[in-house]
Amino acid sequence: MKKKSIYLLVFLLVIIIGKACVKQEDFKVVNLHCEYLSDPLHIDTDHPRFSWTINSELAGFEQQAYEIRVGMDIEKVEKNRDLVWQSGEVSSIHSNQIAYNGDQLKPNTQYYWQVRVWSNEEEVSDWSNPASFHTGHTAKTWQAQWIGLPVSQAAKDDYTCPPSPMLRYVFTIEKPIKKAILSASAKGIYEAWMNGEKIGQQYLAPGWTDYAQRIQYQTYPIGSLKTGVKNCISVVLADGWYAGRLGPIDWNFEGYPWRGWYGRDLRFLGQLDIWYEDGSFETIGTDESWQYFEDGPIRSADIFVGVEYDFNHEIEGWQMPDFDASAWKKVSVEKTDYSVLAPQLDQPIEVIKQLKPIAVEELGDQVYIVDMGQNMVGWLKIALQGEPSDTIVLKHGEMLNADGSVHRDNLRNAPQIDQYILADNTEQVIEPLFTFHGFRYVQIEGLRNAPDLSDITGIVLVSSTPNTGSFSCSNNMINKLVENIRWTQWGNQLSVPTDCPQRSERMGWMGDAQVFAQTAIYNHDMSAFYSKWGIDVIHAQLASGEFSDVSPRAMPLVPRFFNAPGWADAGLIVPFRLYENYGDVRVIERHYNSMKKYVDRIHELNPDLIYMNGTGHAYNDWLNGNTIISEDYPNTGGEVPRPVFNTAFFIRSTRLLAKAAEILNKTDDFAKYTSLAGQTLEKFQEMFLFEDGSITGDTQAGYAIALSFDLVPDELRPTVAKMLVDAIKAYDNRMSTGFISTICMMDELSEAGYHELACQLAESTRLPSWGYSIEQGATTIWERWDAYVKGRGFQNPGMNSFNHYTFGSIGEWLYKHVLGIAIDPESPGWKHFYLQPKMGGSFTWAKGHYQSIYGPISMDWKLNKNVLDVVVEIPANTRATFILPTGYITDVTIDENELIQIPPDRQIRLEAGKHTLKLIGK
Ligand code: BGC
Repeated sequence: MKKKSIYLLVFLLVIIIGKACVKQEDFKVVNLHCEYLSDPLHIDTDHPRFSWTINSELAGFEQQAYEIRVGMDIEKVEKNRDLVWQSGEVSSIHSNQIAYNGDQLKPNTQYYWQVRVWSNEEEVSDWSNPASFHTGHTAKTWQAQWIGLPVSQAAKDDYTCPPSPMLRYVFTIEKPIKKAILSASAKGIYEAWMNGEKIGQQYLAPGWTDYAQRIQYQTYPIGSLKTGVKNCISVVLADGWYAGRLGPIDWNFEGYPWRGWYGRDLRFLGQLDIWYEDGSFETIGTDESWQYFEDGPIRSADIFVGVEYDFNHEIEGWQMPDFDASAWKKVSVEKTDYSVLAPQLDQPIEVIKQLKPIAVEELGDQVYIVDMGQNMVGWLKIALQGEPSDTIVLKHGEMLNADGSVHRDNLRNAPQIDQYILADNTEQVIEPLFTFHGFRYVQIEGLRNAPDLSDITGIVLVSSTPNTGSFSCSNNMINKLVENIRWTQWGNQLSVPTDCPQRSERMGWMGDAQVFAQTAIYNHDMSAFYSKWGIDVIHAQLASGEFSDVSPRAMPLVPRFFNAPGWADAGLIVPFRLYENYGDVRVIERHYNSMKKYVDRIHELNPDLIYMNGTGHAYNDWLNGNTIISEDYPNTGGEVPRPVFNTAFFIRSTRLLAKAAEILNKTDDFAKYTSLAGQTLEKFQEMFLFEDGSITGDTQAGYAIALSFDLVPDELRPTVAKMLVDAIKAYDNRMSTGFISTICMMDELSEAGYHELACQLAESTRLPSWGYSIEQGATTIWERWDAYVKGRGFQNPGMNSFNHYTFGSIGEWLYKHVLGIAIDPESPGWKHFYLQPKMGGSFTWAKGHYQSIYGPISMDWKLNKNVLDVVVEIPANTRATFILPTGYITDVTIDENELIQIPPDRQIRLEAGKHTLKLIGK
């Protein structure tokens, strides 16, 4: 009793410091977002959700209430007039997921909003600066139609990609313009220009979805329209995901087309909405008056294949209004079903970096090897010069062969070759459109003179999710690992989360995505990106409940590519990551039926609850130790038995479903699935868990998964953790875990008091380890631990990617345990979280941050002999629990106040603000 009051006193002291006399100017509402985006131009819900953060230096700042006002005229909103919603003072501690609840929103209309908040001292802030959102189209506001080449002329060929169609339209604007917005989409991918200037920063639009169910459109403010003269809008189309090669071409499905899984008739749809100064409004949409030309310079363009560009086919001035287009033909118009059109929910694919190469070497006659110094995704921009008809070929690859040529055996049916056919001897600065390559090296063939380093730029493309995390520490190899993880995330984040960006696969493999999701979320704001992908996952699900192993589903309906345990479960795990990290309940609502169908289907096929039926290909703990080729490494004993692995996932997903039911107040379902999960767990324990703590198979993976999924009774957890440690010792302190279980193992070691061993694994440079690949020069995460082994060479090129983020899931462990910024899954949206830096291995300091939806959380710790100095920042309107590292601590000082006694649970509650802690150990 007495002790408790002492802690309380200290905590109160911590809370009280700096809390006196809160003034209005002490806090400010900033960072306004609507549906996770800043000033979005395409909102497709009647109740868009708002979020903001609060800037405040005040310790312990908490929001007690907010008020939002929304209207169509920015000035009137600021004057509190003609509002469509005024929330009034709403008592709430939340500053995100606040849904609009005013008048019915009009389609295709701009709205402005502001918010102010009340502090826990009942002071009110100023109104924030206004932010905006623009509502999307409905069938009523769409006028544009799908246009393209007449179907008879559209490529019917299953194999050859025809030249990219060019489209143009000339129009005149008579009156001064207030605002113009282009909404555009394609079956295929498009680029659009206004009077020769590229519209938007976006590439590869409209992105990848299941085009039969949903085609995204993009919206662009158009500032370059000229009044009183002619304007020209021009467009080029290419195959993209819609009509080009897709991953499954490798797997010889009967009837699966070499190209054109979704269709082969490329189409464009564009609608320019113009709001005039005089208050009138006009729409110019694609229709039969547009013209096309089908014999332009892009002779073929495919994501896997690359681009062939022939300068001899260039048409000067075709994008300008005064071009003579009399030889161009009228487009054909397709009946337009607006119900499949939906605004793009996530960030555009954009150029986020431009790299300079580190070397160019001559390999042979007219053959040069460019080294970008970094395995990257995008393309090469290069200044080229030669003689008329010279063909210059750029072959991209991730590694070099022993003879110095670019290693391309691992690309399978994705040659990723760009070719340029010159028309004259002038210098051309060229970059391909409508493709992307995964490469570090480029072999240039047919170039008469060595290119200069300054003539070459690597253009890096990514769905441009904002950066939210940073990490650095005392071990430089680990810093390199963190950099490699981020590069690998960038390389696999183009409209969908992919497995790899180079070989003929590049698909939304669900297992990889779910394992990496938390790491991705630490690094970047993935709220919009995963929300969009979640819809792809629902669309890829079978009516009977099976999830596709890849989303969007690019597979024919063959059972082997559905419901793989660990892959299919992404259909629950990823929505829950959104719920936990961003407090998103709407995503749980959206996915609920799909989650339920999935769990019900497994139950239906496996009434005895041991999950073995209907698992399709069942990749299990993919690429576990058994697949490593090395004399010094055992090739048995790594793989967890299938019934253990599958049933563990069945329990995990059933529990998540029960939790979803609880969140949504579906009491019957909550009871039903809690009981199903309980019964399955009982079965699991009865069949696979033994009294001595061993689990059938005696694998590292089995122990790691059982602990991580909470399949072990509390009293047996330490014994099972010890079994895990023994299973690691049996491998001479090396890992045998695969894609799915590696992060589980790292996490559980650190949770169970074996952080030192986890650090040894993380810092190791022996095969298999992250350090091993870094010692071989890796600049991204490899698909296989032994993708390349000095002396042995490459692994099987049939499956050997050097840009595969799955083993990069260790990023989560680094943020969570080494840096010590950890989510509290019971407090969605990081409203409360843990600060839990752990000491181990060679780590003597770590520093970094995570930008949560409430604001930045930062950590900076330094260990100097027996003194640990920590500086943390906790965003306004959140709280944290600091967990003292294990080990003997004699003295704790928080913000210069000495803690009288170390709490037995080692937990210290901290309020918002900056805190300095000094911990003195033995
Ligand atoms: C992909 C993986 C994927 C796997 C399924 C591979 O070809 O590249 O990352 O998860 O297939 O086991």
